Amino acid sequence: MIFLDAAATTPVRREVLEAMWPYLTGEFGNPSSHHTLGEAAANALADARATVARSLACRPGEVTFTSGGTEADNLAVKGISLARQAADPRYNRVAISAIEHPAVEESARYLERFHGFIVDVVPVNRYGQVTPEALAEVVRPETALVSVMYANNEIGTIQPVAALAAVAHHHGIPFHTDAVQAAGWLSLDTKTLRVDALSISGHKLGAPKGNGALYLRSRTRVEPLVHGGGQERGRRSGTENVAGAVALAKALTLVGAAEQGEPLAAKVAGLRDQFIKTVLALVPGAILTGHPGERLPSIASFCFPGTSGESVLLELERQGVVCSSGSACAAGSDAASPVLLALGIEAEVAQTAVRFSFDSTVGSAELEEAAAAVGAAVGNIRSLSGR
Ligand code: PLP
Repeated sequence: MIFLDAAATTPVRREVLEAMWPYLTGEFGNPSSHHTLGEAAANALADARATVARSLACRPGEVTFTSGGTEADNLAVKGISLARQAADPRYNRVAISAIEHPAVEESARYLERFHGFIVDVVPVNRYGQVTPEALAEVVRPETALVSVMYANNEIGTIQPVAALAAVAHHHGIPFHTDAVQAAGWLSLDTKTLRVDALSISGHKLGAPKGNGALYLRSRTRVEPLVHGGGQERGRRSGTENVAGAVALAKALTLVGAAEQGEPLAAKVAGLRDQFIKTVLALVPGAILTGHPGERLPSIASFCFPGTSGESVLLELERQGVVCSSGSACAAGSDAASPVLLALGIEAEVAQTAVRFSFDSTVGSAELEEAAAAVGAAVGNIRSLSGR
């Protein structure tokens, strides 16, 4: 099997499993317990927090561990907006881009449904980028938060995060970015990005599903969503997932180590470009979606007019290539992706979308094989449907 769906999830790396193993077995303590087992767990948690903080160029106290990217996004969007509204009821708007992951979009819609917020949607250009000018047109004195993702999960387009954060800050508005797909490929230096909040998720990086983190710049007020024993400095109650935190820290370290050893992102970007070139050559009429250059090294996304995305997936799986039609959340649905519609792609064409996403171990031979399979699969489907 050639697995080209790493944007959906990745296998747990052996080194990560080995790092977390002690905290699932012998060192199983609760970090809040006042005995040696508890202290060992608390130390492991503190070390993991310090490691994550190094990857994000922030202080350990600015890292909140969560149950994943979705919870980190929810805590940022709802938590920051509600805290600002509690301090000043005039804050009743949130601005998000038109191509956010549902974890951000639905959090904003929750604020609209239950807290009287107005959701301002910032349009994207045909490559899926939010321009600083487009954002400047949307923000208002009542905007509590701006949230624009770092890189998109369906088309891989990278946003000019620092420039967008500057627009928000110019108006005194905090800025959150969902960096779930960017992590592992792009710098997560929160100082250079100039963000106030940033979400990451472990399972896109070789850690298990169900753990992530939210960076919250110190003095950024946040209303907790999960109430209880006051763990995570009161921001997220519940006995901490120590092994998960250790796993996330290890996964981030491995990504950093790989980057220093060789320019991994550049290498994978080269393989991606070759794959895109081959697919476009083999499939007449194929359309590359997203930005041609400002895109994640790990994502190649296309529309194949004259097919349906789902039929291409099935045909490819028969040939041993596993990929997806867009986001894993929308898998199995033949509805056009809202992300592609926001780019101005017609619904009929958007329904033919296929996303190929790579992890750091991807090789050129398997991509060549996969590209040939794509050419054959699309050709078969088109000839069967007489197009
Ligand atoms: N944000 C983006 C951009 C994603 O791609 C995903 C996962 O697909 C999430 C958030 C949600 O992360 P998690 O699966 O850890 O909840």
